[in-house]
Amino acid sequence: MNLDPATDRHPFLDGLPKRMLIGDRWVAAASGKTFETRNPATGEVLASVPEGDAEDVDRAVAAARAAFEGPWRRLKPDERQALMFRFADLVDAHWDELAWLDTLDMGAPIRHTRGSRRHLVGLMRWFAGQATAIYGQTADTSMNGSMFAATLKEPVGVVGSIIPWNGPLWAMVFKTAPVLATGCTLVLKPAEDAPLTPLRFAELALEAGIPPGVINIVTGFGHGAGAAIAAHPGIDKVSFTGSVATGQAIVRASAGNLKRLSLELGGKSPHILFDDADLERAAPAAAMGVFANAGQICTAGTRVFVQRGIYDRVVEAMAKVGDGLRVGAGTDPDSDIGPLVSPRQLDRVLGYVGSAHEDGARLVTGGTRFTDAARAAGNFVSPTVFADVSDPMRIAREEIFGPVASVMPFDTLDEVVQRANDSPFGLGAGVWTRDVGRAHAIARRLQSGSVWVNCYNQMDPSMPFGGVKMSGYGRESGPQQLDEYLHVKGLWIQHD
Ligand code: NAD
Repeated sequence: MNLDPATDRHPFLDGLPKRMLIGDRWVAAASGKTFETRNPATGEVLASVPEGDAEDVDRAVAAARAAFEGPWRRLKPDERQALMFRFADLVDAHWDELAWLDTLDMGAPIRHTRGSRRHLVGLMRWFAGQATAIYGQTADTSMNGSMFAATLKEPVGVVGSIIPWNGPLWAMVFKTAPVLATGCTLVLKPAEDAPLTPLRFAELALEAGIPPGVINIVTGFGHGAGAAIAAHPGIDKVSFTGSVATGQAIVRASAGNLKRLSLELGGKSPHILFDDADLERAAPAAAMGVFANAGQICTAGTRVFVQRGIYDRVVEAMAKVGDGLRVGAGTDPDSDIGPLVSPRQLDRVLGYVGSAHEDGARLVTGGTRFTDAARAAGNFVSPTVFADVSDPMRIAREEIFGPVASVMPFDTLDEVVQRANDSPFGLGAGVWTRDVGRAHAIARRLQSGSVWVNCYNQMDPSMPFGGVKMSGYGRESGPQQLDEYLHVKGLWIQHD
């Protein structure tokens, strides 16, 4: 699909106010309130969206509970699986349309949003496969032979999901696939900055035959619908992706009914280049580890540690990659990186650039907003490399969520392990070396949910993804994610 060249319009953007999905009905907010979502490349209003709050969340939870205890619960695993495959086929068939919607609403280049098709549709199919592969175990207890002991795996129930704006389509796939595979139901709140793709995705779920009430979407703000989901006594588990501060608020709010939680939070991931690395591959990978999606990726490898002998070459090579990137509207097929999602995010990123100057880091390239005619209305910032950054500087410690790299020299393995781990975060880590022994040794010592050696940001449905320390807990993707949505019940039967 391409946008209508005459109007630059997407078929979902028909000028009508959007509705959110509760049970089988597309509805306005109970309060009647709405908010607008904008194209971050142009500032143009894309659509008006309901501003749901606690009352709407109540209704959505009731719909999700009714589906959980009713039609959805009665389906056999293979019947759920067949629906999931149908849903995946529909998402595949509508991929371009969904990718365009993501691009318009959050700014990522269309090449980028289109490009995740194989992984994300693959993840939907992989989890469909898992729907018929959920087993308990029997146990040989130390009791006599007249005791049958076994474990049963049961869906946790109604799940609340709260997602960020930096990859709505990604988040929809990651949050719905395990819910459907395990037989749970869902109340999901999209981010206020990018609510459109989740609504279209939910339309496709209904079209695929997923029963009404299994997936409910409540659009709105964090302090309204988000906080209501976190605190709701009828929600059994919350799966949250977003910032640490919000994650902490959700932990506190969830205490009322001690919900299960999984938290995919922020990062300040180290990307380590040893002097025996294949620099032809390592330096561009280190650059794109920060610049991809304009730095709005939780695993952005923003602390680039480079062994001293190759430091100057890597700094120069990263700057060259940054300077060569085409920064433009996501709708332009030639754009490599798009705008930041909002003026607020732009201010935040430029604030960090200012702090780096004050702290004495050396600006190698970038660090400015684009103000030419084509980009002045959008939130475009240039790929930025700071060299000679030291560990205590704010740009080396705090998550920026923009295309800003901090490049720092190191001398020894022990030193770089200690510095890489000296962070409250632990999401991803990259290592480039040709020495297999060193690769194994450092991979085990780095405190992070994933370690990528001679590659960066690799993902596959068969592999788990998640964080340690303040990057959160729980895993998404991989067989481990199913356990996040299942209770294990112990069953004891004395049979004589
Ligand atoms: P955010 O925490 O501001 O918002 C995320 C979501 O939480 C939004 O839907 C928002 O409305 C909601 N929210 C805000 N306050 C809330 C509250 N008090 N109660 C309940 N919900 C509330 O994060 P963001 O700015 O949208 O996203 C960027 C952050 O997300 C970054 O820190 C990034 O690293 C993280 N992220 C992590 C992963 C991961 O998998 N680890 C993936 C993507 C993004």
